[in-house]
This record gives sequence, structure tokens and C-alpha cells, in this order.
Amino acid sequence: MSCKENYLRVLDVVSEDLKKAGRDESECTLVAVSKTKPLELLKEAYEAGCRDFGENYVQELVDKIPQMPEDIRWHMIGHLQTNKVKYLIGKTYLIHSVDTVKLAKEIGKQSEKAGIVTDILLEVNVAEEESKFGFTSENILDGVKEISEIPGVRVKGLMTSAPICENPEENRVYFQKLKQLSIDIKNQNIDNVSMGFLSMGMSGDYEVALSEGSTFVRVGTAIFGERDYSK
Ligand SMILES: *Cc1c(COP(=O)(O)O)cnc(C)c1O
Repeated sequence: MSCKENYLRVLDVVSEDLKKAGRDESECTLVAVSKTKPLELLKEAYEAGCRDFGENYVQELVDKIPQMPEDIRWHMIGHLQTNKVKYLIGKTYLIHSVDTVKLAKEIGKQSEKAGIVTDILLEVNVAEEESKFGFTSENILDGVKEISEIPGVRVKGLMTSAPICENPEENRVYFQKLKQLSIDIKNQNIDNVSMGFLSMGMSGDYEVALSEGSTFVRVGTAIFGERDYSK
């Protein structure tokens, strides 16, 4: 199947699932994760109506942006090193993967320099996987409080990547946990912090994530096919 067909098929599943969950279609955005993929495929997805693209690597993102239409909302979803932040400022719709206070400080600093405010999500390693970045369920509240004081950034919600698993149902507990954390944080009424966004669900588990309240599903393989990292 072409990537256009894949995109439209996933979009259909997303809107059906939202309907089933009694949620409005506007409540969740399908982010097409195009890391490692050539521009031709991104353009195909764009022609099919996709306006939200997710990338993991700063260099790749910065290279792709000027070669694609201007009405795209670019999502940075990969681990971000503080020394790369300056290349990204002003170019993203949302940075999903803020995993330390230090990184938020650097985004704030560079944003202030550019005279803008950058919208961010905080990544939580709810499954406590050793290989993954992120706040823990235990330290996320302190992290949010500290980051809420930083000028130049605005916390809009939480993000997680659940483990790779055979049965997506196994990840339901992690999505529930992230949702609960966002409710707990919201109830603290912290200035400059909103919890309207929940970024969770990938190719293997986005339907489960949607049923647990996801507002951004990040789907790569199911749209663009397997990635080849050998090049
Ligand atoms: C690559 C990636 C995705 C997309 O994964 P697929 O399984 O290909 O859908 C989603 N989120 C993050 C953070 C990623 O790095």
C-alpha cells in the first residue's frame, strides 16, 4: 500500500476510535512520524491531508522544514540534547520530549532570546524502562513545578513511549498511569501549566492509547513502513 493510503487508513481508524470513545474528532491529532524517511513520502502524506509531522533528530528536522510546505506543524518527539536546542527554536509547533529540568531551562533561555514562548510536553517514563529517558512518576510533579517558573516555556501536558510489546493491551496500564498523572498535576492548579495534551500511542498501540485519552498519537511505521537505520 502507498503511504497515502496508509495515512488515510490510520486516520480512519483514529476517527472511528474517537467516535467509539464518545470523543470529538478534534480531540486527537494523528502525528505522522517521518524520521529517516525521504521527502517524497512526507509529500505523499501531505497530499493526503497530513499537516502534523513528527521527527526525532534535530539535524534531519531542520533540513526537512524548508523543503516542505509552510503550513506544517512540526513535532519534535525524540531525545533532545541541550546543545542542539538553539537550532530548533521557533521551528516547532510542540516539543514532546522534554525529559529534564535542565533541558527545559535551555529551551526557555533560547526562546527568550528569540522573543518567543515554546510549547512543550514533559516526557514521563511511566513503564520505568532503563533504556528510556524521562521523568519518573515520582519526580514529575516536582519537575513540573520547577519548569513552571522558567520563562520562555509553557507546559501543555505529558508524553510517554510505552514498551514495545506483542499485545498492545499490555500497555493500557501505562496510558492510564500517564492520564492519572496529568489529572493529579492539573488538580494542583500550577501557574503557567496546562494538562490538555497527552501524547501517547505509536503504530502498535495507538488504538489502546486513544481509548485512554490520548490527544496526539505518534504513528510512523503504520504510515511510512519499516525504518531502515543501516544507511
Ligand atoms: C519512532 C517513534 C514513534 C513512531 O513509532 P512507530 O512504532 O514507527 O509508529 C513514536 N514516538 C517516538 C518517540 C518515536 O521515537
